[in-house]
Amino acid sequence: HCPVGALRERDDVQKVLDALADPEKITVVQVAPAVRAAWGEAFGLPRKFATVKRLVSALRQIGFNYIFDTNFSADLTIMEEGSEFLEKVKNKENETFPMFTSCCPGWVRFMKSQYPGMVDQLSSAKSPQQMFGAVAKSYYAKLLDVDPSRIYSISIMPCVAKKHECAIPVMNDAGAGPDVDVVLTTREVDRLIRAEHIIPSDLEEEEFDMPLGTGSGAGVIFGATGGVMEAALRSAYYLVTGRNPDPDSFSKVRGMDGWKEAEFNLAGQNLKVAVASGLSNTRKLMEAIRKGEVQYHFVEIMACPGGCAGGGGQPIKDGEEQAEARCEVLYGLDKVNNLRFSHENPSVQKCYQDYLEAPLSHLSHKLLHTDHHAWLMPEEETEE
Ligand code: SF4
Repeated sequence: HCPVGALRERDDVQKVLDALADPEKITVVQVAPAVRAAWGEAFGLPRKFATVKRLVSALRQIGFNYIFDTNFSADLTIMEEGSEFLEKVKNKENETFPMFTSCCPGWVRFMKSQYPGMVDQLSSAKSPQQMFGAVAKSYYAKLLDVDPSRIYSISIMPCVAKKHECAIPVMNDAGAGPDVDVVLTTREVDRLIRAEHIIPSDLEEEEFDMPLGTGSGAGVIFGATGGVMEAALRSAYYLVTGRNPDPDSFSKVRGMDGWKEAEFNLAGQNLKVAVASGLSNTRKLMEAIRKGEVQYHFVEIMACPGGCAGGGGQPIKDGEEQAEARCEVLYGLDKVNNLRFSHENPSVQKCYQDYLEAPLSHLSHKLLHTDHHAWLMPEEETEE
């Protein structure tokens, strides 16, 4: 807490309670990958016990109508961003490299304020949070056969910056208000569980709702530094060659180093990639790119050290950094998932087949991509 009380943590729990109490609203909640590795820490639960299925059970007791997994839209992000990257590689003579990932709003804001001349190199893909919200208020509303304006879209994130991202005025592409109405951090959801008198150690495991509750191992590692890159390379390999690589072939981008590099051969094409986490590492990497000291095709940046596992909305234990242990949980979940490739997620395939048509289609562009120039940096922060 701020010692002089000048800053306070924004708390949106009451907004969620109001939505839950409103019979006109259909509450659709998504749970981000990194939350599952951390939500139980505040209750002193062992990591093996504090599974995402027990969090699902808590959310169901609280009264959310539909409980889904952001891993679904992480897989969707890979389909869009991976396809966008391959288009750029095909057209490399006319493109500027590297392409940068765009799923971390902390990084996108940093890029817009510090390196505005390079904003066009950001992927136009929205983050998984925003993609999920747009799909919930379009495709899923259609599946439920309800007016999209009745869907109240909530996300549970490891991240404070996601609260600002959902409020960006252009993030409303389904035509039913913001893609995401409210964001709760992991700390807020822990407070909500306490406020509802739920005893986490008594929870049984329960499944996500379907179809947006299906996610691959590639989706779950979005919560760890290097995970977006690895997931994208797994599917890019498939999209180029028509066959799956060994899912662990791109594991060189794992680990807690603040700036990692790797080179891979993708069907005869040599690709140089880099992964950075933490903004001081990011600045070093960006300066090296700007001075021409390093050249890459694809770069993943996450503002928090260790990626979302170490996000600013996660439980805090004074003097102990938990990001590495949480990343291990996420890689463990990837390893045991029957699905390890985003392009094999059957719910993602069905969403394309029945609604979006294909990655980068007209509708995919409308709902799942954004123009990073279309919003200005806020002049000042009022709440944090
Ligand atoms: Fe949010 Fe940090 Fe993850 Fe970026 S790295 S999305 S700022 S939690």
